[in-house]
Amino acid sequence: MKAHHADDLTLQAFVLASTGIAVSSIELLHVDTSYVRGSNGVCWAGFFGRSDAGDATATALADLPERLPAMREYLIMAAPPAAESGKQCATPYGCEFWDRCTADKSVDWISHLPRLSRGQTDELETPGIDAISAIPVDFPLTPKQAIIRDVTASGPPYVVPDVALAVPLEQAETYGDMLTVETGHLQHWSRLARRGAPALRAAGLPTAPVWSEYEE
Ligand code: SF4
Repeated sequence: MKAHHADDLTLQAFVLASTGIAVSSIELLHVDTSYVRGSNGVCWAGFFGRSDAGDATATALADLPERLPAMREYLIMAAPPAAESGKQCATPYGCEFWDRCTADKSVDWISHLPRLSRGQTDELETPGIDAISAIPVDFPLTPKQAIIRDVTASGPPYVVPDVALAVPLEQAETYGDMLTVETGHLQHWSRLARRGAPALRAAGLPTAPVWSEYEE
């Protein structure tokens, strides 16, 4: 059970108990990942599992009355409390105020760098580095992160050295929030896979479609 599940259950149990409803047990209802659908359709009683949350919420329930006044004070504040937005705003769920809080951030704000840990972010922010392009070259990044840093800093796009196909940017097609080429789609990938590795090799094409899932 995750911490935010326990927090949520704690609050719900507290509200129910405060309104006079006797709470006999606190449980988390969740999908039972061991469930296997039978031939007669979904058995919902088997599809969901229950986890007892009594122990996970006991301490928080006891502490909650003491914490509530501070929470209420935040709720009635005229202005939002000072808080720095960052990757934590997406955990456990994306915050609905993200766009507003980050409106003044630069397009290469370090929080846009994939897989940058909280510790790395702190390490960069301490000396005031908040742009991907300003990350020092000796700062430990993964190879892909380093490519993003270098491209962001220098401008020209990075082209994978052994890329099999390239087209002018104006001929690119949108694919989600990316650009791709028409022949980069699943159907073409599957057609290549069916040709088999020897035929691809003979044609001078990469054999990846044979041994790798599309988008893997
Ligand atoms: S995005 Fe949400 S969680 Fe992040 S600082 Fe703004 S209000 Fe707080």
